[in-house]
Amino acid sequence: MTRGGFEGLDACVHCGFCLQACPTFLVTGDESDSPRGRIELMRAFERGDLAASDEALSYHLDRCLGCRACEPVCPSGVRYGQGLEAARSRIADATGTPRLAKLALWVLTTPGVSGMVYWLARVLRAAGFPRLLAGWGRFGFAMGMLAATRPAKGGARRRTAPHVADLRRPAPSSAVQIFRGCVMEGLFRHVHDATRRTLSVNGYECREVAGQVCCGALHAHAGLLDQARELARRNVVAFGNGDEPIVVNSAGCGALMKEYGHLLGDAAGARFAARVRDVTELLATPLAGAPLDLHVAYDPPCHLIHAQRIVTQPLRLFAAIPLLELVTVAGAADCCGSAGLFTLLEPEMSRAVLQTKIERIRAAAPQVVATGNPGCLMQLGAGLAAAHAAARVRHPIELLDDSYRAAGRYG
Ligand code: SF4
Ligand code: SF4
Repeated sequence: MTRGGFEGLDACVHCGFCLQACPTFLVTGDESDSPRGRIELMRAFERGDLAASDEALSYHLDRCLGCRACEPVCPSGVRYGQGLEAARSRIADATGTPRLAKLALWVLTTPGVSGMVYWLARVLRAAGFPRLLAGWGRFGFAMGMLAATRPAKGGARRRTAPHVADLRRPAPSSAVQIFRGCVMEGLFRHVHDATRRTLSVNGYECREVAGQVCCGALHAHAGLLDQARELARRNVVAFGNGDEPIVVNSAGCGALMKEYGHLLGDAAGARFAARVRDVTELLATPLAGAPLDLHVAYDPPCHLIHAQRIVTQPLRLFAAIPLLELVTVAGAADCCGSAGLFTLLEPEMSRAVLQTKIERIRAAAPQVVATGNPGCLMQLGAGLAAAHAAARVRHPIELLDDSYRAAGRYG
């Protein structure tokens, strides 16, 4: 009988190697806030020794970022993320989903509703208030998150990607389908534009796909696996049966889409998953651009480095930009505390994790913090603004885009 993901936890031998990799354990020092402690709670829950309504169970699982930093350091190959999703799903089935989480999902991912919300957010962003109102309080932090989504001046100049014929580049040799997502499409269209342009320069023809929807990652992390499956099925249909790669520029979306086979449990989901590529995978050996005299701190998103195990490709992208200097930040691969809806639902723990990161970034004094995930861009941007740090956040692909524009590759 299938155990819905709990079997991924069986390999745990309680060695504790994962403890020092866990950001929440480092904040509280409480074993129940560590991967090993949470695995024990989840196993007790699966056995029936703990009820779904058990307060300690939900308290400590709610405080897990789902960052999966515990997976690559585990010598036994524990699939913590799958176990966590299974536990959260079973708890949500039994006790319901918090109202705030439901509201956030409705606002951010429901077509028709989210379009209006993102439009209002863009209007507010264009007025310039969010940056002025940024701070550590709930409202100030939300404003800082919104301010972090604004396009940089150079990147904003061209709202849509130039027509293929405008570019000085090799003739397109491969077609790829672009995944747009919900938050990325609502607040980071400039990153989609940069993705299309930089891929075009490197010989990829980006094709739009009608009928695509939210990837379902936020739903899956909230334990709403049935809703995540429904969205996944719609995406599988929309992207069709071809073999063109599906390019994603959001690490969180890409991580879940690469797991559609497991999520849906069928061959169509597995075929879809095998086609998904992060944009830095497609641009692993990009053409060089013009020099950018910038000090950049790269902050690898958890869902890129831990969930997708994409480590070196983004570094090669930066290497294609002459003069750009990567500065070292202690604990760069540690979670920033964003984690989907976590920043909204568990603000205290989220800020505690973020503050350590912001202090370390400030010590390295970069001009730009680059990261390839919308949640991380907003969380880090809000933290930097609240701390009155001068550095701003950019998606790595935006930097390559700036470099190509400076090199005249766009005509
Ligand atoms: S490192 Fe792996 S096996 Fe060891 S305690 Fe953590 S999850 Fe269990
Ligand atoms: S997913 Fe992240 S926060 Fe959760 S137990 Fe693993 S390392 Fe800790």
